[in-house]
Amino acid sequence: MPDVFADLVGQDEAVDTLRRAAAAAAAVLRAAAHRPDDADELAALVEEVEVAPGASGVSPGDPGAGMTHAWIFTGPPGSGRSVAARAFAAALQCVHGTGCGTCPGCHTTLAGTHADVRLVVPEGLSIGVSEMRALVLRAASTPSGGRWQVVVIEDADRLTEAAGNALLKAVEEPPPRTVFLLCAPSTHPDDISVTIRSRCRVVPLRQPPPDAVAEVLARRDGIAPDVARWAAAAAQGHVGRARRLARDPEARKRRDAVLAVPRRLTGVGAAFDAASALIEAAEAEAEASVAETDAAERAALETALGAGGTGRGAAGAIRGAAGQLKELEKRQKSRATRAQRDALDRALVDLAGFYRDALTMALRASVAPVHTDTASLAEAGARKWDAEGALRRLEAVLACRAAIEANVKPRIAVEAMMLALWKG
Ligand SMILES: [Zn+2]
Repeated sequence: MPDVFADLVGQDEAVDTLRRAAAAAAAVLRAAAHRPDDADELAALVEEVEVAPGASGVSPGDPGAGMTHAWIFTGPPGSGRSVAARAFAAALQCVHGTGCGTCPGCHTTLAGTHADVRLVVPEGLSIGVSEMRALVLRAASTPSGGRWQVVVIEDADRLTEAAGNALLKAVEEPPPRTVFLLCAPSTHPDDISVTIRSRCRVVPLRQPPPDAVAEVLARRDGIAPDVARWAAAAAQGHVGRARRLARDPEARKRRDAVLAVPRRLTGVGAAFDAASALIEAAEAEAEASVAETDAAERAALETALGAGGTGRGAAGAIRGAAGQLKELEKRQKSRATRAQRDALDRALVDLAGFYRDALTMALRASVAPVHTDTASLAEAGARKWDAEGALRRLEAVLACRAAIEANVKPRIAVEAMMLALWKG
């Protein structure tokens, strides 16, 4: 039976660290069971094994070795940060050992229904302070299952400054049985504040190799091995993206449209057309992905508001309703913007893969192409542009991503990129 870490693709080192920590956490609980009334003692036990930032490992024989209150999982998108955090949460709640995958503790954690595991998934561009305060408060309560209160924060890089401060207080003085698991692209100060980082142990994840991704798609999702191999290469180590490409014809169609861009850049007009097409495709994709949730949320809120009566206090109720609707619209707009940026970024990553293929071909490097289905096109590009021209184009795509990340208007950044790709 696969354990909770089975879906963490190509991350042997991280899994090893987490398994040891889960074993250590179980040892802490066993030790506490012999001294049930002494919570301080338990805190001291975990405290003992806290390691200074940058320090590695503790002696393996130590019963508390390797467990601490706060963790950061870092790695490129799709490497499995949140998969790792959830798996570790399950391992901490496992009643049999360190993440058997079958006991109620593992099962409910992975299904998202464990009473002592809280998961924060930001829908918009940032996680606000009120959400964080409520979370920190609940995390301080005694775990109902008698093990740990686990808080998983996906995209901790999207914390607002105030939310970050609320979290920092909790991480600095954690209740004895609370564990914080944060996910972020990196430990760069732009992603996570230096003070929070200094309180956490970092688990770096790497970009999983394509054959490891293909293996998990075939084993877990039952995807045909040749399709799995193609999708794993095309997704450039992003496990979720690989699964979508293998399963969703719409996702494949969007990718085909993006990879048709290089061949369509025949002049200035064509470059602007290509920019518009790319932006509009990202908008359409984002709209499709949020439309259903938006409509359901609005209907639910209207039903709730409609249940209010008339008469005295009705004016106040209407004012309240308008406020709530406005709040909902704000949240939905923020989520739509995020979805648009994510869709556009996926397109840019695909495009970068194409020019990377042209570059490696021009250099005659013995590297497998990212996009096997446009390899001949990349080959033609390599001959026409040479390594330098391919590299300049690859850099134009990466510069576009960086510009959008730095809040340049997407249309402006994409138009500049298309012109650079055309001129070379
Ligand atoms: Zn278990």
